[in-house]
Amino acid sequence: MTRPAHESPAPASAERLEALVADLSGLDLVRAGLELERLSSDYFDYSPLLHRQLQGRLAQLVVRAQSVDDVLRVAAACARHEVALTPRGAGTGNYGQCVPLAGGVVLDLSGLNRLRGFDPASGIVTAEAGCLLASLDRQLEPHGRALRLAPSTYRSATLGGFIAGGSGGIGSIRWGFLRDPGHLLGLEVVTLEREPRLLQLDASASRALNHAYGTNGLLTALTLATTEAVDWRQLVLEFEHWDAALEAARALPAAALLLNALCLLEAPLARRLPSPAGCPPAAGHRLLLLAAPDALPVLEPWVPQLGGRIVWQAPQAGARGLPLRELSWNHTTLHLRAQDPGWTYLQLLLPQPEGPAIAALRRRWGDDLLWHLEAVRQQGVARLAALPLVRWSGDGPLAELIAQVKELGGVLFNPHVLTVEDGGLGVIDADQVAAKAAHDPRGLLNPGKLRGWLER
Ligand SMILES: Cc1cc2nc3c(=O)[nH]c(=O)nc-3n(C[C@H](O)[C@H](O)[C@H](O)COP(=O)(O)OP(=O)(O)OC[C@H]3O[C@@H](n4cnc5c(N)ncnc54)[C@H](O)[C@@H]3O)c2cc1C
Repeated sequence: MTRPAHESPAPASAERLEALVADLSGLDLVRAGLELERLSSDYFDYSPLLHRQLQGRLAQLVVRAQSVDDVLRVAAACARHEVALTPRGAGTGNYGQCVPLAGGVVLDLSGLNRLRGFDPASGIVTAEAGCLLASLDRQLEPHGRALRLAPSTYRSATLGGFIAGGSGGIGSIRWGFLRDPGHLLGLEVVTLEREPRLLQLDASASRALNHAYGTNGLLTALTLATTEAVDWRQLVLEFEHWDAALEAARALPAAALLLNALCLLEAPLARRLPSPAGCPPAAGHRLLLLAAPDALPVLEPWVPQLGGRIVWQAPQAGARGLPLRELSWNHTTLHLRAQDPGWTYLQLLLPQPEGPAIAALRRRWGDDLLWHLEAVRQQGVARLAALPLVRWSGDGPLAELIAQVKELGGVLFNPHVLTVEDGGLGVIDADQVAAKAAHDPRGLLNPGKLRGWLER
C-alpha cells in the first residue's frame, strides 16, 4: 500500500473496478448513463464556484442498497479493493456534499427506508437512514408526534442526508440546529474496513458523525427526539415599510406565540417568487409564518399595530399546491434561479440589530443583493439568520461582499466551499477526525470533504 491514508484515493483502475463489481454481484448496480450522472450530482450549481470545481465529476459505479447487509457488503468490498465510497441520500445538498471527488462508488441509501421503532412514552423514534422526512412524519402523526426540525426539502430529503449534510430549517425558530445536543440520540453505523463493523452509538458518540458529510461512517439508522404534532396554520403577512417588517420579524419570535417558521422576504424578492394557491401576488415586504392555531387571536389584532396586514392564511395539513415551507430557507434560491440562473446566495448571521448592517450592504450592492431572513434560535437565543440572494458577477465581487459582511461583524457560513469545516466556522473538529480514523482508517469515505483529515 503506497498511498498515505490522509491523501485522497485515486479513481479505481479498470481492473480494480471489475474486481469490485464481481464482489458485488446480485446488488443493484448502475454502471453508466444518465442515471449514473444524476446519482453523482446534487444542487451544487447554486454556487458558480462549486459548479466550476464539480461539474463532470462522476462515480465509476453506483450501488443502490436495500438493506444493512447490502451496506456491509459494499463497505467490505470498497475496503478490500481500496476504492472511494461516497454515501448519498436524496442528493439535495447544495455544496456538492455527495459528489464523488475521487470517483469510485456512490452508495445510494434511499432504499433503507423502514421505521425501526417508536416509543410512545418518550416520543423517541428510530428509523433507517433513507426514510424521507415527510414519510417519517406521516408515520409519527397517528401518535401525535412530529419531527422537530426539517429542511425546506422535507418532501424529498432523507433522514440520513439531513443529519449528515443539513443543519436546520423549519422548526429552527423553536429547536435551533441539528448539532444542538438533544436532537440526535443515537446512530447505527457501518464502518469502512475489510471486516466492517455495525456499531450502535449513543447520543454522545453520535455527535462526531452529525454534519460530517458521511466522511466518518455510513449511517444506516438514526434515533431522534420528536415533538408534539401541531396543526400549523400558514400565514402570509405584508408590510409597506421594510423597517416595520424587520421589527415584526424580531418581535413575533420574542412573544409567547408557538411558531414553527418565520421567513422575511424583501419586496423585490417576494415579487419574484410564486405564491401559494389563493394567495395574492406580493405587493410589499412579506413575512411567511407557520403558527399554532392559538396564535391567531393574538396575531389578527397585533399585525396591523406592527404596520402589516394578513393577506392570506390556510391550514398546512392537506393544503393544495405550494406549501409556505417551500418558499422559505433555500427554496427561495431555487425559485429565483428557476427564473434567472444568474443568482446565487450567502448564509450569514448579522450583528444585532440587523437593520444598520443591511442598510450598509444595500448602499453598496443595491438590487444585486436581495434580502431573505429566517428566525432561528442560535445557542438558545432568538436571532435572524440571513440567506441573501446575490446576483453573480464574478469571484471578485463575491469576495468583496464576503469581506464587507465580515467587516460589519457578520458571521459567514460559506455555501461556496467543499469541506465540512469551511462551510461552518472554519474550525477543525478533532472528534470528527478521530471518528474517521476509527471508522475509516484508509480515508475512503467521501474523500476530500473533511479538511481536518487532509491536514492531519
Ligand atoms: C431547495 C433546497 C432547499 C434546502 N433547504 C434546506 C434547509 O432548509 N435546511 C438544510 O439544512 N438544508 C437544506 N438544503 C440542503 C439539503 O436539502 C439538506 O441538507 C438535506 O437534508 C439533504 O438530504 P439528502 O437526503 O438529499 O442528502 P444528500 O444530499 O444525499 O447527502 C447530504 C450529505 O450527507 C451524506 N449522506 C447522505 N446519506 C448518508 C448516510 N446514510 N450516511 C452517511 N452519510 C450520508 C452525503 O454523502 C452528503 O455528504 C436545501 C437544499 C435545496 C436544494
